[in-house]
Amino acid sequence: MKKYVYAFHEGSTDLKPLLGGKGSNLAEMTRIGLPVPGGYTVTTEACIEYYEKGNIIWDELRHQIEEKQLELEKMMEKTLGDIKNPLLVSVRSGAAVSMPGMMDTILNLGLNDETAKGMAEITKNPRFVFDSYRRLIQMFSDVVLEIPKYKFDNLLETKKREKEVKSDTDLTEEDLRELVEAFKKVVKKETGKEFPQNPKDQLMMAVEAVFRSWNNPRARVYRDLNDISHTMGTAVNIQVMVFGNTGEDSGTGVAFTRNPSTGENKLYGEFLMNAQGEDVVAGIRTPRDIEELKEILPEAYEQFCEVAKSLEIHYRDMQDIEFTIDSGTLYMLQTRTGKRTANAAIQIVVDMVKEELITKEEAILRLNPNDLDQLLHPTFNEKALNDASFITNGLPASSGAASGKIYFSPEDAVKAKADGESVILVRNETSPEDIEGMVASVGILTAKGGMTSHAAVVARGMGKCCVSGAGELNINESEKVMSIDDQHFGEGDFISLDGNTGHVYAGQIETQDASLGGEFLTLMKWADSVRKLKVRTNADTPKDSAKAVEFGAEGIGLCRTEHMFFEDNRISVMRRMILSRSIEDRKKALDKLMPMQKEDFIGIFKAMGSRPVTIRLLDPPLHEFLPSEKADIEKLALEMEVPYSRLKETVFELKEVNPMLGHRGCRLAVTYPEIYEMQVRAIMEAAAELKQKENQEVIPEIMIPLVGEVKEFDYVKELAENVIEEVFEDYGITVPYLIGTMIEIPRATIIADEIAKGAEFFSFGTNDLTQMTYGFSRDDAGRFIKEYREKGILEKDPFQQIDRKGVGELMKMAIERGQQTRKDIKLGICGEHGGEPNSVEFCHIIGLDYVSCSPFRVPIARLAAAQAALRYS
Ligand code: PEP
Ligand code: MG
Repeated sequence: MKKYVYAFHEGSTDLKPLLGGKGSNLAEMTRIGLPVPGGYTVTTEACIEYYEKGNIIWDELRHQIEEKQLELEKMMEKTLGDIKNPLLVSVRSGAAVSMPGMMDTILNLGLNDETAKGMAEITKNPRFVFDSYRRLIQMFSDVVLEIPKYKFDNLLETKKREKEVKSDTDLTEEDLRELVEAFKKVVKKETGKEFPQNPKDQLMMAVEAVFRSWNNPRARVYRDLNDISHTMGTAVNIQVMVFGNTGEDSGTGVAFTRNPSTGENKLYGEFLMNAQGEDVVAGIRTPRDIEELKEILPEAYEQFCEVAKSLEIHYRDMQDIEFTIDSGTLYMLQTRTGKRTANAAIQIVVDMVKEELITKEEAILRLNPNDLDQLLHPTFNEKALNDASFITNGLPASSGAASGKIYFSPEDAVKAKADGESVILVRNETSPEDIEGMVASVGILTAKGGMTSHAAVVARGMGKCCVSGAGELNINESEKVMSIDDQHFGEGDFISLDGNTGHVYAGQIETQDASLGGEFLTLMKWADSVRKLKVRTNADTPKDSAKAVEFGAEGIGLCRTEHMFFEDNRISVMRRMILSRSIEDRKKALDKLMPMQKEDFIGIFKAMGSRPVTIRLLDPPLHEFLPSEKADIEKLALEMEVPYSRLKETVFELKEVNPMLGHRGCRLAVTYPEIYEMQVRAIMEAAAELKQKENQEVIPEIMIPLVGEVKEFDYVKELAENVIEEVFEDYGITVPYLIGTMIEIPRATIIADEIAKGAEFFSFGTNDLTQMTYGFSRDDAGRFIKEYREKGILEKDPFQQIDRKGVGELMKMAIERGQQTRKDIKLGICGEHGGEPNSVEFCHIIGLDYVSCSPFRVPIARLAAAQAALRYS
């Protein structure tokens, strides 16, 4: 018989896929002798089968749960539902991958009208019991009965107002008893039934609700965002309750063993006295710094520090820990690898290498290359910041700097983002329902909640700037106003957030690019020392090239020359060139473009120094450059001194039904050889001039796009070589150069041996190669690929991550065939995949020399290449 339920003492970290993150870590903590309240875990497999069986708890599973529940009761010498000696448990979800706050928790399960009475007598603390009971009804109703939470929150708030108290803890036993009665009435009204009084029913209903919560919309959105499979299921943890709300020697808290924002090696956390777990995470009361616990309960604090350190050493990583102190005794309720900003992640691994807790290789492998993106985020310009108008201070919950317009609801935020606004989401506190609004925002500001509140944790995960717990702010979400003293801000007003300091400012503030230093450089140095792949960049301007060099680019793998023609004064010359009716007219226009191109190349060569630069000859369909507005055509007709109607006709003639498969790439050179002649001349003159005047050695790599037939390649190569000869004669010197091709048409991969006879390098254009291999238009596929993914037809978008099975096989064939005729052919990739970690790994495996990606992805590719080298050495 399959085992669906494990007592904590039966599991360990190794069973994480089965017991989930929380369950396996509770088991592990139990195993190493830490103070963990007893309990058991229902496996993720049970959850998957629950769905397979049509959403039912079947007999065998029910039986196994009941059995473990009995064992637990024996161990605790308490019984679920026993009036004189009741056992209370928590029921919490826990998937194999951490999804903070995305799923559900129920505390104090086992309370009903009778056991509450019993507990009140035993504990002599009826206030605590009724506080626990009202929480159970609230959570159970939310998670299991799906009654909106606010219905209970409103009653609680009304009660506090009635009693003129600020905090929940100021409510008396009598108040709480009344709340319990009122809450039960809500349940009756909303469901037509009484709140379930049988604790065994409560338990089964709760387990089932946790299973269901795996597929609630916010969990699905979170998984989509984080690329987590929907098929893993969640485990359910049932654990004996310990209470942080029994009085002033009890409390509950959350702590990280190191600072999750900066990585500083110092215990970092928050707690609330006389409270239950969800109060801290939900951000309902603003919690206190963990250090203050030292004053209140010194022994528990000392013990906690020791446990935290030992957990970090045991797991060899920074831990995120939940604890409760019940009448002075410490209990551990959870530990997991803590989420952190990219900054902190780097600081932590570099420190841990220094502390000899992990090796350099482990440090490299531990980081998620995509997270480095966060480091490249802007900060506020110092000068602009000095002049900014400070409003208030909150907690620096997630780094970065953001300016944008205020919106007070996730729906409004999503709408504003769709209208092109830069959005700051302002909320009293956020909850998982706000997730889409958070995605739509550049920054998040909350009045309540600490560093571990939902807003803080989720924003850090997203690499988004967040200021939380700005307690002086008065936020009225329904009226859409935020005020402090006599200042008021409404929807659409600009504010700015500094996630590094927690400061909030009125208006917009200019930002500046991130500067990279310190531990980042150390880590990159380690990565560079192990990687085999070179990392180049796709850049078309001297500015982008310089930025890429700063990020560690070792050359340019793709300079798209067409982008250079879109600048103001050039586009009309370009248009004249395209629309010329005679070669003479076209040459005249090209003569004007030539010096501009040459200047571009000189700028890029200078920015790149001695690094290799691959320049691709004109690629896009010409119609992309043409005017479509009547006024533009009229203006151009005037400039070209041709009648409007004739020009309109020419524009019309150039239109193509399917331009991406039309007259583009090297096909243009077959029709208009003089375009490529001009470009080759500009490239070579730029190189010759730099050599002559500045003694700078440049080896241009001239790249021919969209080759599918070897004679296309040979034709363009000959054309280029003729121009190059002329340039050498004009300058009286020679410059080394390479001529190669993009491999982006499936046919080119098949005849790669023929092409390689003339081509000195191949650069895989995996954007077009994917388009043509799948037959998915790269401009339109976005519209349906999302659905393909949702329906499980495609696991990944092949335009983002290389399709190893199809496109990848074609690449392998091209390499093999290319090497047959040119053994040392240089191999690279310049499609978007060149900056995507999984694809970089594939490029390493198939033996490319380099990957090339946009400047901001260069550090990501460097780290991904190092990881690939370590995994596949
Ligand atoms: C490609 O097709 O992968 C490529 C790099 O070229 P472009 O995206 O400019 O078509
Ligand atoms: Mg292409």
